[in-house]
Amino acid sequence: MTLTTRTIAAPVVPTSGALRPLGIDEVRITGGFWHDRQQVNGEATLAHIEHWLEKEGWLANFDRVAAGSTDTEGRRGREFSDSEIYKYLEAVAWEIGRVGDSVPSAELETRFRAVVDRVAAAQDADGYLNTRFGHAGQQPRWSELEWGHELYCLGHLFQAAVARERTAPGADDGLLGIARRAADLIVDAFGADGIQSFCGHPEVEVGLAELGRVTGDRSYLELSALFVERRGHQTLKDIEFGRAYFQDDIPVRDATVLRGHAVRANYLAAGAVDIAVENSDAGLVDALKKQWQRTVDRRTYVTGGQGSHHQDEAFGEDWELPSDRAYSETCAGIASIMFSWRLLLEGNDARYADLIERTLFNVVATSPSAAGTAFFYANTLHQRTPGEAGSPDEISPRALSSVRAPWFEVSCCPPNVARTFASLAAYVATVDGSGLQLHQFAPATIDTVLGDGRRIAVEVETDYPRSGRVVVRVVEAPVDEMSLSLRVPSWAAGATLLVGGSSREVAPGYATETRVFSAGDVIELNLPMRARFTRPDSRIDAIRGSVAVERGPEVFALESSGMEGLGSNEEEFSRIEIDDRVQPAETGRVGEADAGARLTVSLRVVPEPTEGWPYAPELRASEDADEDAATFTAELLPYHSWGNRGTSTMRIWLPTVGA
Ligand SMILES: [Zn+2]
Repeated sequence: MTLTTRTIAAPVVPTSGALRPLGIDEVRITGGFWHDRQQVNGEATLAHIEHWLEKEGWLANFDRVAAGSTDTEGRRGREFSDSEIYKYLEAVAWEIGRVGDSVPSAELETRFRAVVDRVAAAQDADGYLNTRFGHAGQQPRWSELEWGHELYCLGHLFQAAVARERTAPGADDGLLGIARRAADLIVDAFGADGIQSFCGHPEVEVGLAELGRVTGDRSYLELSALFVERRGHQTLKDIEFGRAYFQDDIPVRDATVLRGHAVRANYLAAGAVDIAVENSDAGLVDALKKQWQRTVDRRTYVTGGQGSHHQDEAFGEDWELPSDRAYSETCAGIASIMFSWRLLLEGNDARYADLIERTLFNVVATSPSAAGTAFFYANTLHQRTPGEAGSPDEISPRALSSVRAPWFEVSCCPPNVARTFASLAAYVATVDGSGLQLHQFAPATIDTVLGDGRRIAVEVETDYPRSGRVVVRVVEAPVDEMSLSLRVPSWAAGATLLVGGSSREVAPGYATETRVFSAGDVIELNLPMRARFTRPDSRIDAIRGSVAVERGPEVFALESSGMEGLGSNEEEFSRIEIDDRVQPAETGRVGEADAGARLTVSLRVVPEPTEGWPYAPELRASEDADEDAATFTAELLPYHSWGNRGTSTMRIWLPTVGA
């Protein structure tokens, strides 16, 4: 399919592929779970991020470079802090596009331009842009590719410029020019005759690919391809974590699974899909699909989270998925969505949209607090100790996960969540020559043209995930035949599609209705939302004999702060097991902020063992242990809303009685 050249207000716009993405002006989320989060993001999170960028001096770093400061001690933040400013700009660009002509949009526009001006002032005459390298008193440019993150930061700059150009084409703020000057510089510096290396942290690959798409400049795509192909030949210096950490162990097209640092691995894979699609490189696409599949089958948590090593923020081996050491960085979840989304556009396969949904609900939605001003960086599946709440005025260590923190020394996750929420409508639906595909469920209006130019407009009504009923009402349709396809998630066996008064069962994948539609026609998808027990593959031995409870796309968790009496203290909580012969019962709903069901399950506390050496042929219960064996009921809550009631212990996987 060949795309029209008109601007599509979406983060990823390939020039070919099975599906065309829709812009945030073509799909508007109008209510429900994700709209709530978009509103909080726009009203609270963006200002919160800007406050911290200023407070920590990361924005002022640009002013220092602009002023020609040679005081190297005065620079604040880590070597990659520039990237947070660019992610913030990207988020604001999408948000301005999302809210359209409005008072908040005008205020955001002023803030956006003020930050762009400070960035512009720090750019060198030849296009170089970085506050940590390349100026008087600093290390030279490109002198530390393993850890310097200069190209990584530029990748985020490029994505910000792309977001701006696609939501405000031709705007005179100068951001696209800043990005192009920087991109032209690195085409010279790292092109075919340039430095034969690449950045330790992938990201510039996706940034360059998209900048190439938005400007039509092939040299950016070609440099992106060079960066992808150079990787994997042991070019970067070896480091304590090994070269797999930055994917310089095996060439991208030869790898069989994602490995090393989970954010790096996914950003690289996303960029590799981009250049594979642009170069019609079927072999590379196929290799990436296989890597995606094995990673999902063997290295991904039930939440969709990825990365089980704290030490190097990395994937573990196959099946190495311990709940209490889950790192599952928020950014890794977002990066995984970026990878999956590109594969979905390329090949139109519901598996990719399934993982996106799982990760959105159970990683991305988990990170921010209900108020949008505190975040999880890591997303453990099992919190053993409540820990202590930090101060709302202080930065926090990045994996202190019982409570969300306002900001981190490494604060990649908050602006990553912000840009994802602001652009989320672009991940809801797509079109091709024959119809419209609905991948994610939210109340929305969709008004677009099919790949062949015919107009289609629909309204989606649903209170998903509270219920599994999704109604698509046709507002305007072509005069001839077209298809409407609705994703049926892999967990939704027994789903039905109601069209024109007749209902039929539809299998997981896409339920497609093809015919001549008229305004007022309605298609209704009904997904079974019964709570269900989920059991792990026995090879994930850390959780063998346990069950998780899921309902629709949401994973549920047991949190001590919602419990009273038996099982609520830390010690008893560690001895809880679940009676999985008793089905979870839905007990009610909670307010908008939590937006989820409560499920009652039957629990027991294992009799307290005697103190001492904890291994024996047969462990004895202590003498006053009898009363502990009583069963009781407790409520589970959606995992994404845990940690909003103060410090707590929490677990997703519950050992079954007698396991
Ligand atoms: Zn992060």
